[in-house]
Amino acid sequence: MERRLTQQGYTFELDPNQAQHVQLAKSVGASRYVYNWGLAESQTAYELTGKRPKHRELKARLVELKKGDCPWLYEVSAHIGQQALVDLERAFNRFFKGLKGQGPKSGFPRFKRKGERDSARFYEVSLEDKHLRLPNVGRVRLKESCRERGFEGRVLSATIRRRADRWFVSLCVERERELCGPKPIKRLRDVVGVDLGLKAEAVIYDGETTRVVDPPQPLRKSLNKLRRLDRQLARKQKGSANREKAKLRRARLHYRISCQRQDHLHQLSSSLARTKSVIVLEDLHVRGMIKNRHLALSIGDAGFGELRRQLAYKTDWYGATLVIADRFYPSSKTCSACGCIKDQLSLSERVYECDACGFSIDRDENAAINLRRLGLSAAELPVDRRDVTPAERKALAPALAAEVKPASLNQEASVSPRSRRGTQRRDERLAGAVTSWA
Ligand SMILES: [Zn+2]
Repeated sequence: MERRLTQQGYTFELDPNQAQHVQLAKSVGASRYVYNWGLAESQTAYELTGKRPKHRELKARLVELKKGDCPWLYEVSAHIGQQALVDLERAFNRFFKGLKGQGPKSGFPRFKRKGERDSARFYEVSLEDKHLRLPNVGRVRLKESCRERGFEGRVLSATIRRRADRWFVSLCVERERELCGPKPIKRLRDVVGVDLGLKAEAVIYDGETTRVVDPPQPLRKSLNKLRRLDRQLARKQKGSANREKAKLRRARLHYRISCQRQDHLHQLSSSLARTKSVIVLEDLHVRGMIKNRHLALSIGDAGFGELRRQLAYKTDWYGATLVIADRFYPSSKTCSACGCIKDQLSLSERVYECDACGFSIDRDENAAINLRRLGLSAAELPVDRRDVTPAERKALAPALAAEVKPASLNQEASVSPRSRRGTQRRDERLAGAVTSWA
């Protein structure tokens, strides 16, 4: 089996002692300080000359800064400051690319505030089974051993992060993975359409059954709790010890929410990427949707963007194919029975009702069927596959029907125009139509 090098992230929780705790805090503090300093330097230079200092120039000035005003930066690894400037450079590049329309729109780099996404990147770290050695910090205990986590590979860099009052390290690891060629489509169930929704997090249609994945909605459930913590925080005097305590309680809750969300998304993306050959997703315009205040909470909570990111790399690992439907592909507006496209479909219409053929089906299920069909045509499946069982042939029927459009469809639909449990019965009906055609 051929192998190739891939990069993968591993996250461990750290268990630092008191001195290491102080040193870790200094490290993220230095990272934030240099980032903000670089941003301020860039802004002043831009206001004076209309040009931003080059990355190399900032690096040289950083050396001067350490020699002059900020000798305390010598107390942390030299990589930390340099990497903070690398991050700043990336933030600027993202911003300018977005302006030129060469990438997604991104805001102007912002100053980092203490306690918000505190992090610092290290190089030259060494990993033992239960410990991680970080420059200028020392040998820090891990809360889990590498063996327990099934760690494999070579560490390239380490990013430490503070979440609430806990410390984590994300290791960027280079490891060999078996190169799996594209997974064949053995059964029709290997092709799935995934509709990401608001009511149900995901509706997955595999040609036979529809699986509805309900979001755990951790944020929603904890929202009342979060609001209470926010109110408590607002009542506390600024700068007081009680305010700090309240802040910490809130940060802990935020952290727990994000863990629950990540767990759920990882389970979903792993099960899909492992078991399916072709996965079709919609290219949701997440940024645009989050601007809509009514949708923002549900979307952020479901983590659409994150699910797609996970699916992208996991399908690559397991040899599955991820098909992203074009943003303008009308997966919701198309009738999965006759292929008619509606002009208008408001978000409140939970049931799709076709004006042309009278077909009625759950809105998200309809979209999932259409997306799956896109995957089938992308896979260019031969219709007369020998390993297709009769049941699976039935499942293929909607896809075939879309091309054939049997004349009897209108009559069939009129048998039960408002069938709520449409999919299965419709599949049988369409299967009949296709068999007679074949
Ligand atoms: Zn229709």
